[in-house]
Amino acid sequence: MSTPPLGLLLDVDGPVASPESRTVAPELLDDLWRLLGAGVPVVLNTGRSVDFVAERLLGPLVARGLPAGARLHAVCEKGGLWTTAGAGEVHLDDELAVPAVCHAVLAELLDGGYADAMFVDTGKRTMATVEARTDVPAAHYAQRQCAFDADLAERLSAAGLGVQLGDRSFPDAAGRTPWRIDPSVIATDVESVRAGKALGARRALQLLAEDGLLPHAWHTVGDSRSDYAMADHLHGLGADVTHVDVGPLPPLDRPFRVHTVPGLGYDAAGRAHLRALADRLG
Ligand SMILES: [Mg+2]
Repeated sequence: MSTPPLGLLLDVDGPVASPESRTVAPELLDDLWRLLGAGVPVVLNTGRSVDFVAERLLGPLVARGLPAGARLHAVCEKGGLWTTAGAGEVHLDDELAVPAVCHAVLAELLDGGYADAMFVDTGKRTMATVEARTDVPAAHYAQRQCAFDADLAERLSAAGLGVQLGDRSFPDAAGRTPWRIDPSVIATDVESVRAGKALGARRALQLLAEDGLLPHAWHTVGDSRSDYAMADHLHGLGADVTHVDVGPLPPLDRPFRVHTVPGLGYDAAGRAHLRALADRLG
């Protein structure tokens, strides 16, 4: 067994799945397959449900036949659950699961009028999530999402939950805010304040420590500010890490390399980066 040439931690929505169509391009799956065959361990680190990741990524790669020795895992729901490609078993952290009332409140709000712009992601097991409909313009969703998030915070607070929404805090009777409302470009999540990309990175390293040697060098890829937490975590452990930012905002200053893909964003940038890696390492 030799040290892997590189490790990959990949956000899914943005760099891998198109934020518009929510689909994964076949050529990106080809390049992931080549990288797995070259001994590159890959962990998907996403807020998505395990069902989404299984359908769009793990399933198609397993159906093709994973290369010998492939190390492919998915940490879903921002660290709430995780699985290994081909294994079928899903592990869940019960402590991260939001109270049942969160699901009820989402359903009420959609019944009350927000269904024109969004739908409930019924695949979530630890988070509660609404997602933008793919048939409404992004600007319409963004406008509805703002009002939705404020209504959601008020209703959850009224139900006795302590929640955070951006820099606003709605403490529970004990003064705590254990839950977070986290809006992104295509969704709003209700989640534990412990959930996130840093927790996902920790779980990723645990999964890889169990199935082989850890790489010294890593690439982390994401389109959101929160995705930097993957690289922050690895850098904090002394690893050699490059973060690839495929989002629309200017890259952040960090004590490690931060790359962009000039002229490209989101999944087009993700595809180009993985293609270049597969050509170099495959
Ligand atoms: Mg993303």
